[in-house]
Amino acid sequence: MGMGTTSFWQHTATAPDLYSDLPKTADLVVVGGGGVGVAAAYWAARAGLRVTLIEQSALAAGATGRNGGFITLGAADSYLSLSAQYGRDAARAIWQFTLRNRVLLNQIIAEDNFEFDHRVNGTLTLALNDAEVRSWHANIAAMEADGITGEYEWRDHVGTQKLINTQISEEIDGCVFKPNTALVHSAKYVFGLAGAAVRRGAKVCIAQMRSFEDYANRVIVHTSAGDIEAKSLILAGNAWTDELVPHLAGTVIPVRGQVLSYAPSARVFDVGMGASVTPTGEYWQQTLDGSILIGGCRADAPDREWNLRADVLRSEVQEPLEQVIPRLFPQLTNLTVAHRWSGPMAFTKDYLPVIDKAPGQHHTWVAGGFNGHGMCYGLATGEALVHAAMHNTKPDAIAPFAADRSGLN
Ligand SMILES: Cc1cc2nc3c(=O)[nH]c(=O)nc-3n(C[C@H](O)[C@H](O)[C@H](O)COP(=O)(O)OP(=O)(O)OC[C@H]3O[C@@H](n4cnc5c(N)ncnc54)[C@H](O)[C@@H]3O)c2cc1C
Repeated sequence: MGMGTTSFWQHTATAPDLYSDLPKTADLVVVGGGGVGVAAAYWAARAGLRVTLIEQSALAAGATGRNGGFITLGAADSYLSLSAQYGRDAARAIWQFTLRNRVLLNQIIAEDNFEFDHRVNGTLTLALNDAEVRSWHANIAAMEADGITGEYEWRDHVGTQKLINTQISEEIDGCVFKPNTALVHSAKYVFGLAGAAVRRGAKVCIAQMRSFEDYANRVIVHTSAGDIEAKSLILAGNAWTDELVPHLAGTVIPVRGQVLSYAPSARVFDVGMGASVTPTGEYWQQTLDGSILIGGCRADAPDREWNLRADVLRSEVQEPLEQVIPRLFPQLTNLTVAHRWSGPMAFTKDYLPVIDKAPGQHHTWVAGGFNGHGMCYGLATGEALVHAAMHNTKPDAIAPFAADRSGLN
């Protein structure tokens, strides 16, 4: 994993040991021990498949263990712009996919009983100028016209202040409040879900996939720990998609994010928060131990950290990150940085993931390019791809995420 920063999540949870003995055969091999791959292993084990997940470094080593810990709804792009590009039915279908993810999350919470600091206090996005206010109103109206109600609520400056336990800056015009979205401890989530998968029969191994051969009747997966022969393969490498599926290089593009967390302080944020102080956006939450964790400010780097995956801190991004909280919350000037880290995201041109059969393959499926919003996709993606692998047909639910759609070019 490159130079090796460690996230707040990785500091505050214990990664389980991974098996080093790779089985020779499996019904399904899953590559990638982040939220998407672990979800696929979980659903496969639940369906009774002999499933082996391989991870090259550690569970939650990639984006999932280094993120903001928000489980939101919908796509990275706005509902209106998705409707404009792909039509209202597609925009609604994408929304439904992430709602399905929420249903699955609640099912797992009820049935698998692991702790990951899951809180449904809501998240909000601040509006800092008139254009943002107008845009949120237009989006809420478009969603309501499509029957999506109760998920996005507009709050003015005074209403926003009521959601935050410290004085807010005058530059905050209001916010869109999403009352049903969640915050989680991302590493505990991955470790817990992997544990549930193992209890249901999955094998979770340390190995790096080097290459694969996909034949009409089987897939051979070549790894650093030997070969496995499987009926099907799911590639859930997100920021590494270009290595796993070279055909998708340039389509699913690695983009690095920078994050820092402050030492624990008095509780001021119960909800997760976002804003566009820079054009690429910022997000922060206060964890259960009082640590405020903030990421964003990519726009302050000349390349916006595109085409970068190596785990390296960037001062052009880390320094402006430290300005965000004191600017928006004038009383929060005495925070002390405790951890800094980077994390590998993957972006696409239309801000939607690719979830599909790997181009030109028989039994190999791929998921990647979650555009910094994969937490509300992982479980539904795993479910859909396990179904796809078992029946060798593509479920309708992933139709919007086709690898050959027009908006990827
Ligand atoms: C800084 C940051 C903040 C974010 N904030 C949020 C947020 O608040 N909410 C949200 O919804 N999303 C957020 N995201 C995005 C979200 O974390 C991702 O969309 C999601 O975690 C992707 O999950 P994944 O399983 O596809 O990928 P990852 O978690 O990156 O997992 C991929 C795994 O594949 C492994 N791998 C790669 N190649 C191989 C190989 N050849 N062999 C074996 N293993 C391999 C990697 O080691 C890695 O562990 C953020 C991302 C970052 C980086």
